[in-house]
Amino acid sequence: MPNAIRLQNERVVHLSLERMVWPSGPVCPHCGEAARLGRLNGLSTPIGAWKCYSCRKPFTIRNGTIFHNSHVP
Ligand SMILES: [Zn+2]
Repeated sequence: MPNAIRLQNERVVHLSLERMVWPSGPVCPHCGEAARLGRLNGLSTPIGAWKCYSCRKPFTIRNGTIFHNSHVP
């Protein structure tokens, strides 16, 4: 199943990206919350989507980072 392998690779790449951008864990780009966060794992959820339980907004690693306006696929 090539699709499953590609998805697996995407997740691996994403996890290493998270470690680069958030060396001490994820931080909400909207309000700065670092503790009350949850990873979204729904089937229709993009990889690396997080939900902030402080401001109740979803975010991904590309929100408010140097990747935000780039064309990283
Ligand atoms: Zn927040």
